[in-house]
Amino acid sequence: MAETMLAFGISQAGAKRALATPIAERRPSLFGEFREVAIPEPKPGEVLIKVKGAALNYNSVWSLLSHPADAFSLIAGFVRRNPDCTHHQTDFQIVGSDASGSIVKTGAAVRGWKAGDEVVVHCNVVDPNDSLSQIDSLLSPSQAIWGYETNFGAFAEYALVREAQLLPKPPGLDWAVAGSHGLTLSTAYRMLVSPNGAQLRSGEACLIWGAAGGLGAFAIQLTKMLGGTAIAVVSSPEKADFARAQGADFIVNRSEVTGPLVDEHGAPLLANWRKFKMLLDRQYNGPIDVVFEHIGRETLGLSVYLARRGGRIVTCAASSGHNCTIDLRYLWMNVKRIIGSHFANEQEAAEANRLITEGRIRPITSHTISFRQIPEYLDLLHRGAGMGKIAVDMRQASA
Ligand code: NDP
Repeated sequence: MAETMLAFGISQAGAKRALATPIAERRPSLFGEFREVAIPEPKPGEVLIKVKGAALNYNSVWSLLSHPADAFSLIAGFVRRNPDCTHHQTDFQIVGSDASGSIVKTGAAVRGWKAGDEVVVHCNVVDPNDSLSQIDSLLSPSQAIWGYETNFGAFAEYALVREAQLLPKPPGLDWAVAGSHGLTLSTAYRMLVSPNGAQLRSGEACLIWGAAGGLGAFAIQLTKMLGGTAIAVVSSPEKADFARAQGADFIVNRSEVTGPLVDEHGAPLLANWRKFKMLLDRQYNGPIDVVFEHIGRETLGLSVYLARRGGRIVTCAASSGHNCTIDLRYLWMNVKRIIGSHFANEQEAAEANRLITEGRIRPITSHTISFRQIPEYLDLLHRGAGMGKIAVDMRQASA
């Protein structure tokens, strides 16, 4: 085996350049680069994977933009919380948080897996010895997202993961598709299905923002699987078709509301909220039991307003900004709840993977790209032009 490998990610110098560039001028491809780096050695409890499939996720956009935090500050935080992980501190972060592949080497104390096993990787890195991990590993201060807060992510010939991140590859799927569902499906699963999230019940209606995106398309399928009504918010007729193909019952094309939903300070623009509500009512005018949120600043206040009395707003992200204005009267007087959610614990990730294996949830791969096309397609994701999941065929990663 060669001692070096080709990888895609960001260097310390790249992160410095990003931070010195106004945020509106940053694009992932300006700061990401391919580089020959040393192949990492698995430490106790770790496994080296030959990566065969992967997928683009929005967290790689954040890594390459160095926003809201740069990769090296995130890795430093991970090492502070996990002092035995100093090997993650190099001058180049390999990004990527979804992978499929074969095990090539196992570190000491790896019991459940062996070289040659075909796996998919979930991105929850956690100290298994923390007793909080037994309740819900997202509670553990050691918790981090692989390939975002750690090094040695998916976009390289080889990736380094913990044993507990491994799941069996769903048989019958090609490598790229098998490596494309883990992060967003598991996240949507925790948000909608798990008792740690909104736990949508049969007969309930769920309003799904970004419904043709990686999270949203799985949220539609999960809502239908649970016997709910899926109301999909999208921004174009093409995305409407994609959401419909996932099973959406109603479609709201948000581009039909002229004007922004919040002002430059994030405060509600009530006239445009009313226009949105009218648009929604024309499609579906029943109660909204759950709102599936990940947009943040531009929509969170509206999501709270739209949820029915006693409804739940479950959120895992803030693509449009983290500082949000909420009119709390809509929340407390109507006894609504906002639930914070983040990726998935091991059990939730395993259950999500099983849904794919059993064919109860379909992969949402819209197309498959080559390793060398990653920067170009991360720019596309950054522009909001992605649909479903963009899978990466990593078998040519050395070319
Ligand atoms: P995608 O790019 O696949 O989809 C995001 C969708 O959001 C877009 O298609 C767009 O849909 C919609 N959107 C973007 N901006 C706005 C806006 N201002 N108002 C309304 N809709 C908007 O991304 P993902 O679904 O994979 O991820 C979404 C977010 O969730 C990202 O920020 C990501 O980092 C985060 N995330 C967090 C996770 C966690 O564990 N905490 C896990 C996974 C993702 P349209 O234009 O059609 O409306």
